[in-house]
Amino acid sequence: MKTIKTVLGPIAPDELGFTDIHDHVWKSGGMEVLEDSDFKIDSIERSHQELLRFSAAGGKSLIDMQPLGVGRGIEEMKQIVQGTGVHLIAITGFHRGALYDKAHFVYKYSKEQIKKIVYSEVREGIEINDFCGPFTVHSDVLPGLIKCGTSYYKITPLEQKLLEVVAEVSAETGIPIGTHTHYGTMGYEQAQILIRNGALPDKIMIGHLDRNADLEYHKKVLSMGVYVQYDCVARVKYHPVSDTMMLIKKLSELGYADRIMIGGDWGRSSYLQAYGGEPGLEFIPRHMPLMMKEYGIDENIIHKIFIENPKRFLAY
Ligand SMILES: [Zn+2]
Repeated sequence: MKTIKTVLGPIAPDELGFTDIHDHVWKSGGMEVLEDSDFKIDSIERSHQELLRFSAAGGKSLIDMQPLGVGRGIEEMKQIVQGTGVHLIAITGFHRGALYDKAHFVYKYSKEQIKKIVYSEVREGIEINDFCGPFTVHSDVLPGLIKCGTSYYKITPLEQKLLEVVAEVSAETGIPIGTHTHYGTMGYEQAQILIRNGALPDKIMIGHLDRNADLEYHKKVLSMGVYVQYDCVARVKYHPVSDTMMLIKKLSELGYADRIMIGGDWGRSSYLQAYGGEPGLEFIPRHMPLMMKEYGIDENIIHKIFIENPKRFLAY
């Protein structure tokens, strides 16, 4: 039977419930954190409190989208989630190339070698030290998703190699793919490369696409049969909420309601209430469904976006 892999073990898809498809509870290092310490999310107790707030607001499941080598903390996530009642999902795979130091193994190893590493996480469990140490110790946590990413308007040779790895591992194991697009660019090209290398369209989710809230572009990406992830829904510093709401309404009218998912992507400590920030992980479950209704989005479309689509997409 297909299951959804959470930090506390696999669950039946029906148990998933209201899902924030892209968020963060732990980021202890990596290039992003080195360049700007606001990206650091590294208190087990505070992240635990943040998840409790998410749960109290009606959130049931959440993906921590931190992949290999950029401060992912699988042992910490196991502690953070204890007693929250939330289904926390950890991931494997890679971020965009600029977040890896030139000394990182992703630059040095061949595609086949990197594939072996990722494959071992999908089969044996997430490695507790992100393969940074001399020993390899697999945790008992299987990844719920595999990530890959690209740069602003370009795909570097490293990113191309990692996209191919991710597509092949997904094709062989069924694990769903989530991507990072930079400001929403290269989403269509990501879908093309992933599908060309064997990934199934209904196991691909193109991320951050509403950063580029262009209806025609979204139609083009969706024509590939993939999912789109909106995570800029309340980021008014980038564009008004109405941009994302318009996309959801128009695309639903065109029959794409079963291909949209939403995350908060509150990936800075200044976004998390338990760290003294706003609006917190609770924002998506507490406010988004109500805001969507105010914009005239149908109840059954809201149900698809937060419950049915994640349940179908994440099961493998
Ligand atoms: Zn993120």
